[in-house]
Amino acid sequence: MSIGILALQGAFFEHQQMLERLKVKTHLIRKPNDLNIPMIGLIIPGGESSAIGKLLMDLGMLEPIRAMINDGLPVFGTCAGLILLAKDVTNNGFFSLKTMAITAKRNAYGRQLGSFTRVCDFKGIGEIPMVFIRAPYIESVGENVEVLAVVDDKIVAAKENNQLATAFHPELSDNSEIHELFVSMCEDHQKSKS
Ligand code: GLN
Repeated sequence: MSIGILALQGAFFEHQQMLERLKVKTHLIRKPNDLNIPMIGLIIPGGESSAIGKLLMDLGMLEPIRAMINDGLPVFGTCAGLILLAKDVTNNGFFSLKTMAITAKRNAYGRQLGSFTRVCDFKGIGEIPMVFIRAPYIESVGENVEVLAVVDDKIVAAKENNQLATAFHPELSDNSEIHELFVSMCEDHQKSKS
């Protein structure tokens, strides 16, 4: 069984490389049929959330993926992926999954100069490098959402049941601990089903 990586646009290849480093099988998801390949989890990469949302809609993949997540499939959204998971996005109106009880603010650090790296604390892991590229942050979270990282008073990582979201890009750093966390979420979910 493998982890599916949505590969319509954006930084999907880097997630694949990171999971291969961890000896986890992956497959890329480009069309509706790819969703039939058995998967223990799904990664939604960074990129351009409005473009990914439109492609998901046009390809007829928005509803099937939403249903899979609502059914408990573990999902990990990075940056644009976080925006696509958010139930609410400030100043925005485009197609998205809206499965996670967070409010995301898009391009929250400014459009052009908004890329930077920080080393900050991630709950349960410790200090890790966090690469931000025209990143969102999380303005508010619902009651069942656990906040996992805060940088400069802004929430940049959170978890709600089987949904994990980071405003930064762990796949663009050398540190694999966030991916290890997601793999263990996927494995725990598999065990709970058997
Ligand atoms: N700014 C992008 C968006 O709004 C996200 C950037 C990223 O994923 N690195 O979708």
